[in-house]
Amino acid sequence: MNHIAIVGAGLIGRVMAWQLLQAGQRVTLFDRDRIDGDEAAAYTAGGMISPLSEIEVLEPALLQLARQSLQLWPALVDSLGQEVDYHNHGSLIVSHPQDAAAHQRYLRQLQQHTDPAAAEYSWLNASQLSQQEPELLPGFQQAVFLPGESWVDPARLMPALAERILPLCEHWHSGCEVTAIEPHTVICGLDSHRFDLVIDCRGMGAREDLPGLRGVRGEVARFHAPDVRLTHLIRLMHPRYCLYIVPRANQRYLIGATQIESEDRGPVTVRSALELLSAVYSLHKGFAEARIEAFKTNLRPAMPDNQPLLSLQSGLMRINGLFRHGFMLAPAITTQALQQLQQQGYL
Ligand SMILES: Cc1cc2nc3c(=O)[nH]c(=O)nc-3n(C[C@H](O)[C@H](O)[C@H](O)COP(=O)(O)OP(=O)(O)OC[C@H]3O[C@@H](n4cnc5c(N)ncnc54)[C@H](O)[C@@H]3O)c2cc1C
Repeated sequence: MNHIAIVGAGLIGRVMAWQLLQAGQRVTLFDRDRIDGDEAAAYTAGGMISPLSEIEVLEPALLQLARQSLQLWPALVDSLGQEVDYHNHGSLIVSHPQDAAAHQRYLRQLQQHTDPAAAEYSWLNASQLSQQEPELLPGFQQAVFLPGESWVDPARLMPALAERILPLCEHWHSGCEVTAIEPHTVICGLDSHRFDLVIDCRGMGAREDLPGLRGVRGEVARFHAPDVRLTHLIRLMHPRYCLYIVPRANQRYLIGATQIESEDRGPVTVRSALELLSAVYSLHKGFAEARIEAFKTNLRPAMPDNQPLLSLQSGLMRINGLFRHGFMLAPAITTQALQQLQQQGYL
């Protein structure tokens, strides 16, 4: 049996490790963060698995992969055997009258990329919208409903994956900065570790080896809102960003996210905070009394074409560039990776 190293135990590294372990492989992980650390982009994410909501920012070539991934998520969640706050109640796309142009632009994209016979979306008038989500402020004349779109809480998923991986993996080198990766070899300072295969899942940490890789800044806010009960992913059309509210357990909500071409990981700016906060308040007045629990910033690892990178040369696989779609694509891209490894005789 081959011994496989996974470098970077963020989202893709953990999902890949779990898939390999389920397939009976020997796996060793390396990450510079603690196992319960929260530096990975994964921890800042909304955890949305929402291909059609993302249609304006999803490369058309990825839509099929994203649909496939949406179907694979329930099995991944089941395999973990614990609550990860996964829901598939669907998304609602709403817009204020002043953002009607953004809404129309979104609708054109949706119509272009969906088959009406597949019933992947439906229109809701104001009264149908208030049946689906009774607490949304009145004033939204129409909405688009995307049934089946789903989301997961990264703060629950990541520890759940670790809990499954730890008893089965050979070793998890946490707090271990990998200084170089070569085919078959992981180097941490003066230590060199040899494997049958190395899988590089370092996200932004792989920048030196992937010259085109860039970080795209995203900012989110987390709330505790005891007066708010929303049960869908809510997308609010906005001229600059795709703003969304993701419900979490215990009346927690995440609102995100800005998308800024910058690698600045510094704190959230006043402008971004104002935009995020005014967006939630415009959807539900109950957010006025909500407690802001955190503002978070992180970088989405992206290649120049914003498409994922999956490459395999002798002894070294790289999976990167998941951009704003890591959760949306994780089970599908790791399944593709496993297929490549099978074809090349590693599994
Ligand atoms: C604000 C924001 C919101 C997002 N929302 C969503 C969403 O709703 N849906 C969605 O699908 N995607 C979303 N994303 C994108 C998603 O988070 C990323 O696509 C995903 O996390 C990328 O996974 P990854 O494993 O490649 O990188 P990461 O999750 O960043 O993991 C990389 C890991 O590599 C480790 N590492 C790096 N360098 C080294 C080194 N030298 N040595 C050892 N370890 C190293 C890091 O510590 C980290 O654990 C969002 C991202 C952001 C920033």
